[in-house]
Amino acid sequence: MQTTQHNNSTTSNRSNNYIYHSLGNIDPDSQDQYNFFGVIIDAAYPYKTSNGKYICTIKVVDQTIHHKGESSSPLFANVVIYAKRFEDLPIIRRVGDIMRVHRANVKFFNDMRQFYVNLQYNSSWCLFHQNQDKDDDDFDDNDSDENQNGEDQEMLDQDQLKEKQLERQEKRRYKPYKFSGRSYTFDINHEKIIMDNIRTWGQNYFANNYVITKDMYMLLKDCKTKMSNDESQEFDLLCKILKIFEKDENNLEIRIKDLSQEMWFMSVPRFKFQSLKQGEVIRIRCVEVNLTSKRNVIQTKNNTNILRFHPSSRIATELSKVIEDETDMDKVLGDEASDIVMNAVVLTEITDSSLARGQMFKLTDLFLNFDQIPENLRERNAFRVRFYCLRIDPIDHREVVQAYCPECSETYSCETLEKEGKGKCKSCKVECKLIYKMQMLVKDSSSQMNKNFYRILLYSFDEDRGNDFFSNVRPCNLYKNADALETIEKQIKAMTKFNVWIDAIIERQGAFFLIRDTKITQVIN
Ligand SMILES: [Zn+2]
Repeated sequence: MQTTQHNNSTTSNRSNNYIYHSLGNIDPDSQDQYNFFGVIIDAAYPYKTSNGKYICTIKVVDQTIHHKGESSSPLFANVVIYAKRFEDLPIIRRVGDIMRVHRANVKFFNDMRQFYVNLQYNSSWCLFHQNQDKDDDDFDDNDSDENQNGEDQEMLDQDQLKEKQLERQEKRRYKPYKFSGRSYTFDINHEKIIMDNIRTWGQNYFANNYVITKDMYMLLKDCKTKMSNDESQEFDLLCKILKIFEKDENNLEIRIKDLSQEMWFMSVPRFKFQSLKQGEVIRIRCVEVNLTSKRNVIQTKNNTNILRFHPSSRIATELSKVIEDETDMDKVLGDEASDIVMNAVVLTEITDSSLARGQMFKLTDLFLNFDQIPENLRERNAFRVRFYCLRIDPIDHREVVQAYCPECSETYSCETLEKEGKGKCKSCKVECKLIYKMQMLVKDSSSQMNKNFYRILLYSFDEDRGNDFFSNVRPCNLYKNADALETIEKQIKAMTKFNVWIDAIIERQGAFFLIRDTKITQVIN
């Protein structure tokens, strides 16, 4: 790709060789080879096939084949490029770029035109930026050969300078930033008009349409449930980059969120994706969900591609507003590698691993809109939540353990009981057992900005409802066990500290939510 050979002359013999067709005017049953321009709306990363060839698939549209709006089903043409070597294939970084293809074969595949571009024969491709006029492209397009010579500059007056600048701009507009083979041709007289037309059309198309429709990506909130049945399944995403961290020499950790407003983590190779920016809306191709991680982790693969959007495209401007920025809850979830969250601690662990990876519920939804939660989830009655405690009752921590009557559910203070806490119910005369009876006034990120707080109970009348909640202690008479009282008081104190969060499973019983399958595992002094 070193030697570039422009072919700007009208007298060239080759200038008449290329007749360009609109995508929709190409007969898919034809045996002919076709030349065309297309606006790229999607592209995979090149990968090696089982027969040792390299392949790259790209979706293109033009004035004659495209879909409109958000909901319409995607309409495009597929371009499949084959090559012997990886480096002969295009790596697409931005949707909206223009692709020119020479000598493609065509077939109908899944009701769409599919173009075959075989670089081992005589096919070729060129890539052009969507918009070369504005200085808004931060891609390295290796234009150093066009940099002006300082000596020349001094000899020119203002008008001449302007003229030169225009000339250079003009030249840049029609210069591909990547092309296959060793050289390319561009017949300025013939192709300029086609190029200008498709560029203008493409810019308008992206400015007025979402282009990426709902059936072209998965929501982050669905990827665990939909993928857990088949671990090898790949999917695509559409999300916003909340934060980028330098993970190590070779990798960046990016935090992403999409329209489901869930935050996920993704580690990406630095050399492939170093131009990504915080706040940017991106399309991610070919990823998997990491089902073994406790955090929400998207796993990249060799053929994962991340595509950026032109800043003026509708999907980028609208989604960057609709998708939330990082919330305080996200900061807690992203407990690693961030200076902001350095002091945030999640005090507890969920002891049931199948629940620990479940979806996180908002307290507002559970307490105020419980009926709107899907029936199957309400029936399961185990909701993962993350909250912080404003206050814990009773204030007298010796009363946190109570004597409970299994017959009438009445509870009594242990104050008058002996050390073992043995005692009988005053009305039923049956043996009581010792349980935790504690109330937490809590908030989560959904209620952080309003006055609402919620009451969650640690009420361990049932064995698996929280007898193991505190670390290194079980319910006992706290009036007579000084060591146990100290152990519990220390943990209660930790629960109400600033930036300490409780990750818990709660279940609904009548009008109350009770903690279960949750244990304090962190020690804070
Ligand atoms: Zn009783």
